[in-house]
Parts: sequence; C-alpha cells; structure tokens
Amino acid sequence: MKSWQFDSEFTSRLSERLHREYRLFGPLTGKDGVCRLALLSREDALPEAKLPFIPLKKMLLPPRETLWTGDNLRCESPSDELPYALVGIPPCDLYALEYLDRVFQDDALYLQRRENLMVVGGGCASSQACFRPDTSKRPSFDLFLGDEYVWTGSSEGEKLLSELAGCKRTEEDVPFPETMGEGTDMPGVEDLEGLFNRSSDWELWQRVAERCLSCGACSAVCPTCYCYDVVDEALPGREVVRRREWDNCFFRSHALVAGGHNFRPGRKERLRFRFEHKMLGFGALRGVPSCVGCGRCNTACPVDSDISKVLAALVEEDAS
Ligand code: SF4
Ligand code: SF4
Repeated sequence: MKSWQFDSEFTSRLSERLHREYRLFGPLTGKDGVCRLALLSREDALPEAKLPFIPLKKMLLPPRETLWTGDNLRCESPSDELPYALVGIPPCDLYALEYLDRVFQDDALYLQRRENLMVVGGGCASSQACFRPDTSKRPSFDLFLGDEYVWTGSSEGEKLLSELAGCKRTEEDVPFPETMGEGTDMPGVEDLEGLFNRSSDWELWQRVAERCLSCGACSAVCPTCYCYDVVDEALPGREVVRRREWDNCFFRSHALVAGGHNFRPGRKERLRFRFEHKMLGFGALRGVPSCVGCGRCNTACPVDSDISKVLAALVEEDAS
C-alpha cells in the first residue's frame, strides 16, 4: 500500500478539497452522547475516526428505497445527492465495507452509490466493546489518515493526493497501521464449521435465546448485516412500486414463506442462524466471517448478549 508523508497544512487542504467535490460526512457525537455519521460543515475540522452507532451501510443500502415502478421496469438511479465522501471511518468499518463490496458486487444501486463514494479511514480507539477480527484481509478505503502519513487504497485516492500540495510519496512504503482499538482477541477456533454443526442442539443456545428479546437491534447496528425484504405496493391509479427495505433475521417473519411454513420459528433457531452467519459467512461467502469485531451489537443489546462471549462458551463446552 502506497504511503505519503504530509505537512501540518495538509488536513485543512484535504478538507477544503473534499468539501468542494463531495457532500462530506463524518462521525460526530451529539448532545445526547450518540455518535452519528453527520453532514460536516466547512467550519468543522476533519473528525478523528470514531465508531458511529449506525454504520456506513446506511449510505450504500438505505433502510428503504424504490427498485422500480410499473412505468419503468428497470432499477431507478439513486435519488440521493451524490457524490458523498466519508471521513473518520474506523478500521472495522473499512473491513465491513470490503465485505459488503463482495456481497453487492452485482447490485446496480449499490454500485452506483459505491462508485460515487470517497472513503477516508483512520485509526480508532473509541470502543472498549470491540474485539479484533481477522486483519489478514485488506480493508476498503481510498485514503487512510495517520498522524504523519497517509496511505492510498485506490486510484481515486492516489489521484486526489497527487493533486494536493503538502504531501509527498515516501521513498519506501511505510507499513499500514493495523489499529483495531483496544479490544480483545476472539477465541481462536480451528474447526468453526464443525463446532457449529456439533452444537446445533446444545442447551447453550436455548439459554442464550431465553434472554433474547428478538428486538433486532444487534442486526440493525451491525455493519455487515444486509438482509432486506422486497415489498410490492399497488398504488391508486394502477401504479405498482417495488421497494426493498431492511429486514432482520431476528424477526419471526424473516423465514416465513408462502403457505405459512417458517424455517426458523423460534428465537433459538434465529439466534443460532445469526451467529453462524456472522462467524461463518453465508452463500457464496461461506467460510468468510462477516463479523468485523466492532462491538456495536454488544453495546446495542438490551440484555447484554455478547457474540464473543457466546463463542467462548461454545469453545469451552466443546472442550469439556
Ligand atoms: S456481529 Fe457485532 S461485533 Fe460483529 S460486526 Fe456485527 S455488530 Fe460488529
Ligand atoms: S439485540 Fe440482544 S435482545 Fe435484541 S435481538 Fe439481538 S441478541 Fe436479542
């Protein structure tokens, strides 16, 4: 990854340039103490990387959007005011973005938004609830800002830097900082697939499920939870609209199919399904964990269900 050294004026030049070309968003903590991705004004300094409560997936997959209408049986272009730039994105969310990019690599609406998005990451120490994911993969970003160096992760990022004064390529590439907050390591599991298969009828899942409220908060805040439902709506005047809306695997209706059969009628099945998906991936990405260790689900859960502790308990029970 190419590295560049910058001078003391560089970040204000970068901010000015981003404001000129993009609608610029970054993590700001409101009076209510909640950190959100907020629209930045030119007066705001570039914020340090922090974990917003709702992750950047909302910029690429809005909670509700029109796919097509009866007049035009093709995907509509996003109606958002593009392009966006995001600054202060913490490493775990950059890993999540890399995951979403793979899942939605053929999705026209996602791709239109993604192509218009500039992402500037930074090292983060904001959450004690987080834990370290597998960092052997390369996170997705255009620029990654350190204290003294900036790294480029795309040709768009390189082009932007080459046009800005106050930074120059280092003679040798400086190693990319793997800053993943102060979290602890997830318990290592050699045969995770086997563990999930062996544990399918263990009492442990029932114990965790008995506390779960099926509220879905953990999935809503998860940067790699992307389930959506497709809803057709008949409007007056014979018009038909097809929308997609965020769905949630904790909801009873999620696995309900025509004829009334439900593949996951109980909380235990739904809970186990989500944990398996987070740890083992899904579909074409089976074997690629989608949990990036951000810890949002632990913070959001009203009954303190903790994905890393559940995994540790599974490992312990397996060993006993
Ligand atoms: S499962 Fe929890 S810790 Fe893992 S990525 Fe999702 S919200 Fe973050
Ligand atoms: S946030 Fe907690 S209580 Fe709500 S669905 Fe997730 S695990 Fe269950």
